[in-house]
Amino acid sequence: MAMIRWGLGRLTFHLLKRRSSLLLKLTAIILAVLFFCEFLVYYLVIFRCNWPEVKTRARDQARQTLDPVLRAMFLADTHLLGEVTGHWFDKLRREWQMERAFQTALWLLQPEVVFILGDIFDEGKWSMPQAWADDVERFQKMFRHPSHVQLKVVAGNHDIGFHYRMTRYKVKRFERAFNCEMLFSWKGVNFVMVNSVALEGDGCTICSKAEEELMDISHKLNCSRQQGQGASHCAAGQPLPASAPILLQHYPLYRRSDANCSGDDAAPPEERDIPFKEKYDVLSQEASQKLLWWLRPRLVLSGHTHSACEVLHQGGVPEISVPSFNWRNRNNPSFIMGSITSSDYALSKCYLPYEDTVLSMYCGAAGLLVVLLLAHFELLAPRFLFGRHLIRMHTVR
Ligand SMILES: [Zn+2]
Repeated sequence: MAMIRWGLGRLTFHLLKRRSSLLLKLTAIILAVLFFCEFLVYYLVIFRCNWPEVKTRARDQARQTLDPVLRAMFLADTHLLGEVTGHWFDKLRREWQMERAFQTALWLLQPEVVFILGDIFDEGKWSMPQAWADDVERFQKMFRHPSHVQLKVVAGNHDIGFHYRMTRYKVKRFERAFNCEMLFSWKGVNFVMVNSVALEGDGCTICSKAEEELMDISHKLNCSRQQGQGASHCAAGQPLPASAPILLQHYPLYRRSDANCSGDDAAPPEERDIPFKEKYDVLSQEASQKLLWWLRPRLVLSGHTHSACEVLHQGGVPEISVPSFNWRNRNNPSFIMGSITSSDYALSKCYLPYEDTVLSMYCGAAGLLVVLLLAHFELLAPRFLFGRHLIRMHTVR
């Protein structure tokens, strides 16, 4: 009797030991995969990105100082989901991905200024005050940054509504939340940030005000170009740096379609030839002309299409369409890194982890867990078990 009890005790102990070893293995695999896919992968991928080299010219020959280089990051279309159409899991997943990608990029790349080119929110166009406040709070947490890094945003149609839904209230609450300014100069580089939804050209109050402000900026820029030539019409005071501006906006300048776009993250081939609708997909031809005439930019960066493209406009002005930063819109989101001086610039693209790769990792790990469980409960195919048994016998001999 004592022998039987001792035998049963040993068996129970053996079973418990096997079970806890299985539990340990499963927990270790799950934690390792979660750590890799939700944390480490961002470091491994973004670590490969480098700031592009830009030619610097001597600023002061006597003192041999060079033009300072501004390191700027450009991203677009983050589309934080709102309370109406956003599913909680989709929201949680996408916001975690963007937060990790942004925080990792800040830590590894140390930009001085970050620009987000509109459509920060998905439902700013209709959200009620409480939902808006919640969205802004989540944005501030996700895109938190040290005080020496500047974060600048421009409004998109999802933030304030398409032109027919845009109201003064929505524009004001957006500007208040992000301290928007149209003109920003740093290290001798001028950026003009335009609310492109207000460039409808129909003379509406918001549109007229936006055009007035643009003409005022155009005047200031012209004065900066004429520095030292004693331009009498220019007001006294601190002039802007004498440098052609970089134009930042949500809608791209007018282009017929994405037919000439290429690259890994351009629009899919079946969508490239679809003609763009003016004032909906791109700015109108008239508004685009005005911006080019008034501002004479050296570079334009825009969002809205969610895909990449490089376009050369009249007068050789290049425009870069920045793809969406949200994995909800792309399998391969990215952002642009710019090394900019007052006279030159160099851009490069930093890709974020591919969603497919992360999902494959999860599928692989799930498969491994299933095999471990089946092996534990000896439910694997008898032929496989027979093979394992033979190997064991062979090893013992
Ligand atoms: Zn948009």
